[in-house]
Amino acid sequence: MRFQPLPSALCPLPSDPCFPKGGGTIESLHEIIGVIHIHSIHSDGSGTMPQIIEAGQLADLDFLIVTDHDTLEAKAAGWEGWHERLLVLVGEEVASQNQHCLALGLEAEIGGGFLHRRYRRGHRSADPEPPRRILERIGEQDGLSFIVHPHGRYRPFFSMRSYEWKEWGSDRFDGMEIWSYMFDWVRHFRFYKFRKFYRDPDAQITGPFPETLAMWDRLCRTRRIVGIAGVDAHAKTKRTPFGTLVVFPYKKLFRTIRTHILSQEGFSGQWADDARIVYRALREGHCFGAYDLLSSSEGFRFLLRSECGTAMMGDVMPFCEDAQIEIVVPRRASIRLLRNGKEIRRVEGDSLRFRAKTPGVYRTEVALGGRPWIYSNPIYF
Ligand SMILES: [Zn+2]
Ligand SMILES: [Zn+2]
Repeated sequence: MRFQPLPSALCPLPSDPCFPKGGGTIESLHEIIGVIHIHSIHSDGSGTMPQIIEAGQLADLDFLIVTDHDTLEAKAAGWEGWHERLLVLVGEEVASQNQHCLALGLEAEIGGGFLHRRYRRGHRSADPEPPRRILERIGEQDGLSFIVHPHGRYRPFFSMRSYEWKEWGSDRFDGMEIWSYMFDWVRHFRFYKFRKFYRDPDAQITGPFPETLAMWDRLCRTRRIVGIAGVDAHAKTKRTPFGTLVVFPYKKLFRTIRTHILSQEGFSGQWADDARIVYRALREGHCFGAYDLLSSSEGFRFLLRSECGTAMMGDVMPFCEDAQIEIVVPRRASIRLLRNGKEIRRVEGDSLRFRAKTPGVYRTEVALGGRPWIYSNPIYF
């Protein structure tokens, strides 16, 4: 497949250099660290909002986004806003025919209906709407939509159905969850390995699914598809032959896979304005996902500099000569640079420089000690 320019209606090509805008510099970017995709008692999570907020504060997060199934109850209950130094936002995980997506920045509940019956006793809802219609309804509110666990497989021990996304032809979603802690952990789970998986969950984390990355790379060649990393936190309690266990307590999970957003604007303390900063960065792909439990990824940067300007991850840069890609990581690691999904350079070190002579979709992956660590959004060049 050839690299195609992005449809202008979806992601306009800038007429001026992508960056800097508004007088900022690449050095003055704010890095804001949060966790996305969390369930509370408002759907099938075990934690109350105060418990989740406390866990987020203990993990020293800047923001977290709670996304209960088919409901904005946590928003209606007034939990959005600043809680000391933690910004709490509430979206919704909307289900349709076992295909799930996160809807962020909503004012009104989408409520796909499918899961209402399960989580709200006595609640009767209409038949679920097809995924295509749900994406349209999120777009009508100018909300953000991210397909989640798009290759989630059937896992009977955890009552997990097949959650594979099928509506790939839609051009209405903003991005996809390229890495999910819960689905990564459960992928190689076997009942006889329960003890090992429960005692050392982090040893089971192997990185985003190859088929998810392949799909992402394919889609990114047609338009901007923002990749996010989620945890899908439920902190479920489970009765097992070994007793009642909590699978992934919130405070542990919040130290694992995080989303780092880069913004020229820092938080002001006005939560509605600060929410817009988070959502804008997510919409524009100014973010990367990282497994921070291995080591803090703060300070990671992925840039493309040319005579046309400087682009950061998520940006669309018109092709011009003499472009230089720069990748900087906070510690020595294995850095891969990919173009249109194929590796074009790999180095061991704390930086990588590459002269980009060909247009394409460039992204980077970083491994630390052989473990998956950082996944950037692409630069579209
Ligand atoms: Zn889901
Ligand atoms: Zn979920």
